[in-house]
Amino acid sequence: MALTAPVDLLDIWEQARARPGPARALVLHHAARPEAGPDELLRVPVGAREADLYALRRAWFGDRMEVLAECSSCGEALEFDLDGGVSAAPPEGGGEPLRVVEDGWDVAFRPPTVGDLIEAARGEDAAAARRDLLARCVLAARHDGHPVAADALPEPIQRRLAEAAERADPAGDVVLRVACPGCAATTPLRLDIAGYLWAELDFWARDLLLDVHVLAGAYGWTEPEILALSPVRRRYYLELCADA
Ligand SMILES: [Zn+2]
Repeated sequence: MALTAPVDLLDIWEQARARPGPARALVLHHAARPEAGPDELLRVPVGAREADLYALRRAWFGDRMEVLAECSSCGEALEFDLDGGVSAAPPEGGGEPLRVVEDGWDVAFRPPTVGDLIEAARGEDAAAARRDLLARCVLAARHDGHPVAADALPEPIQRRLAEAAERADPAGDVVLRVACPGCAATTPLRLDIAGYLWAELDFWARDLLLDVHVLAGAYGWTEPEILALSPVRRRYYLELCADA
């Protein structure tokens, strides 16, 4: 993945901050696949999107990821570093429908795409979103040979579908298990790479704009002039400003 110039990264930041939730993730994903049209990005399975975002994050900010969490048992703050090890693998299989056959049920379905998540997020609550996602991803469902609507699938079958989708598209749901140094309990942590990358980009952009603000005030340079400086020179001039 090519390096992105600071001025382009600020552009992406500006576009992303104007859009909440899944639309923001779409802006970031577009940065990872600039040649893809919007419809094409919506058809990407969620796991493939996550793999793209991990690669993008690494290209922008390097291998090391700092993660903050809270112990689910004692509430202690957990702070740790991840190296590139969580980089998500792209999904297997070439868009073939998945199938669960169990207890007289026969369900054909596909893993959710980015577009499915965006549409489902329009629902009024989490339960509605789950129902909508199910309706979108179930291609055909039968019980003892009779067609059944997606929303009539019993809970255990829904769980099987989720497990099968996860196996087919493993990066869609990266879960880390973090041991607490205080109480030794293990906290499962679902790493939301889109949210993580956004927080990192937002911090980086605000920091850079603050640098621009200080240097523009001190030297009278314009924003493009300051952004054209290498990070090393920018840092050096800032130190001189602080010393002055
Ligand atoms: Zn703990």
